[in-house]
Amino acid sequence: MSVKHALLSASSAHRWLSCPPSALLSKQFEDVPSHFAQEGTDAHALAQFKLERLLGINTKDPTESLKFYNEEMADHADDYSAFVLEQVEKAKETCSDPQILIEQKLSFSSYVPEGYGYVDCLIVADGTLTVIDFKYGIGLKISAESNPQMFCYALGGLALFDGIYETNNIRLIIYQPRKENISEYNISKNELIKWAEEVLAPTAQLAIKGEGEFKAGKHCRFCKAKATCRKRAQYNLELAKYDFDEPATLDKQEIAATLTKIDMLVSWANDVKEYALKEALQGTKFEGFKLVAGRSNRKFADEAAAADIVISAGKDPYEKKLLGITAMTALLGKKTFEEILGGLIVKPPGKPVLVTSDDKRPEHNSAYQDFNENLEEINHDKNS
Ligand code: SF4
Repeated sequence: MSVKHALLSASSAHRWLSCPPSALLSKQFEDVPSHFAQEGTDAHALAQFKLERLLGINTKDPTESLKFYNEEMADHADDYSAFVLEQVEKAKETCSDPQILIEQKLSFSSYVPEGYGYVDCLIVADGTLTVIDFKYGIGLKISAESNPQMFCYALGGLALFDGIYETNNIRLIIYQPRKENISEYNISKNELIKWAEEVLAPTAQLAIKGEGEFKAGKHCRFCKAKATCRKRAQYNLELAKYDFDEPATLDKQEIAATLTKIDMLVSWANDVKEYALKEALQGTKFEGFKLVAGRSNRKFADEAAAADIVISAGKDPYEKKLLGITAMTALLGKKTFEEILGGLIVKPPGKPVLVTSDDKRPEHNSAYQDFNENLEEINHDKNS
């Protein structure tokens, strides 16, 4: 479904709570729908349909209109609906008539001017209000813990059912199947309202007026101003500064200090490059730069004609290649894939990567031999 976003929406709450003036600044930039956003919208439409059908609600099957539909998406939507149904059953253990709302518009405007958002599923029962958010992204693993988007939905849910159900506990659940992530966080109604009064409402007042401090950080990647924001540029250029002393080569501490800043710098640099290219393609001139044609590889002007010629020459022009795991899962669907191919799946250890020490993955066994094997592999990849 197409959704008009509020200026201070639940889905952007993390960003505008971290940097209040970003809300008004973002208004100057147009919405550029991405491939991933469209895929997510399709997955949500399908998940909504499957859940409604499971709950006995007569609803139109959207499959034909979904650009990104595949078996994998259908399986995830099935699993999501089954998961929600389990939560409904759980709610029935303590409440005979829980309410289930799907794709419900929820207003939290008592704290945030014109604040609203659409929750994927809300289960309201005596004792507990459960908020479920279906995330189809495959990039970042999203946590429900202290997640302001989920807090906003919960406030909207409380506003709708206040006085009808006796709710003291709030369960927030993020269901993110492509990251095999189900994240749950519980908060009491009193704690949530305290946060809304002390953090959400005052920050929203700043944001709506374009006041407060610009603050750059990881949340910038979701900001429409990310490529041209002066604060973000200053922040990253400041990050890049480092007073290197003699001697001529960096020591271990200096390399560690540089590594901690690199991801943010690369992400900012890529945003600026992407923005500048888009502008240049529209005619903007940047002093000292020009547009040129990039490198390209030779290819057949007419593949069918090339194949016919090779066949007439008595040779087979095609190579037969097994589909990769993702394409095969999309072809067969997750369940069939696991049934018939599950036993053939192995997961070789990944190549070593350097991450910060708070990363949850166990430390790689860096025995000397492993190290040399990996190094050989890396060098081989680089040279091939
Ligand atoms: S890019 Fe970052 S610092 Fe700049 S307005 Fe957006 S969130 Fe704030």
